[in-house]
Amino acid sequence: MEKATQRSKQWFDQTAKHYHCPVSGASEWEIGEEFVSLTTRSNANGQLLPYGQTSVLLFFRCKRCAYVLLFSAQHLGMLK
Ligand SMILES: [Zn+2]
Repeated sequence: MEKATQRSKQWFDQTAKHYHCPVSGASEWEIGEEFVSLTTRSNANGQLLPYGQTSVLLFFRCKRCAYVLLFSAQHLGMLK
């Protein structure tokens, strides 16, 4: 099975490799070793959700200042 890191690197190299960090201006990124998740705890009306809704994300960390970029793995088709 292809590792999440390999898919993330391939996507990043094709799409955002030369993106500059909005904080430090650097363009060297560390690829996250795993996908991560982010869970919302309320809906658009502000009502609390007991179990929330989880999004799976891939992340890239600026090597200079540790700023993090997050992208939805689901919307990029990486969860198939
Ligand atoms: Zn940075």
